[in-house]
Amino acid sequence: MRWTEFAVKEARQTLVVWEARVGPLKPPIAVEDLADLLYLLAIDVTFDLPSTLAGRLYAEQRIIEVRRNDPPRRQRFTIAHEIGHYRLHVVAEGALTSSYACSDTAISKSDGERHAVPALHDASLPGFSVPHLVAPQLSPRDMRRREIEANTFATELLMPAQLVEVAVARYGTAITDLAEHFEVSRQAMQYRLEKLHLLPPSGPQTSFLGER
Ligand SMILES: [Zn+2]
Repeated sequence: MRWTEFAVKEARQTLVVWEARVGPLKPPIAVEDLADLLYLLAIDVTFDLPSTLAGRLYAEQRIIEVRRNDPPRRQRFTIAHEIGHYRLHVVAEGALTSSYACSDTAISKSDGERHAVPALHDASLPGFSVPHLVAPQLSPRDMRRREIEANTFATELLMPAQLVEVAVARYGTAITDLAEHFEVSRQAMQYRLEKLHLLPPSGPQTSFLGER
């Protein structure tokens, strides 16, 4: 299984559990409630993040920090991305890195395949001690993989393929309307439609590896 397929599968599984909890899914996905109720992750919308970071997950403390200056739709994507790190890398891989610090470029507005620059720092949260945690040295490739997986997870969580297809069948492919419907950025919506082959690609598709 390609690792992005694993991320999609995990996001869908998350939505299945969420649906059992809240009833039939409909957009917009309540990502803050989902973080809280399914994963016991607290959201802290803060001015205190370093300027380069859009979001940060403190895995052990179960806190997601989100940059306060960002537009709400951007913040929703950041939260979904950090839930992705939690589900895919903390829970599934058992990667007890003390924090995942995610830059603007790492948290792509699309699904990360165009811009994926990992930023993984071993930062402790003030007031919390994180003793005896040894972050394993990840290769740049593995760090990049994690960022892309988190973006793939976020995309599926906020714009589930099935719900997008239903919305397009009902409302058409007007990006602004669909983006509002799902509470995501226009760019994220456009990229999602392209990936689902509901829109023709807008430009040259570049591999995130940039080598092919
Ligand atoms: Zn990240």
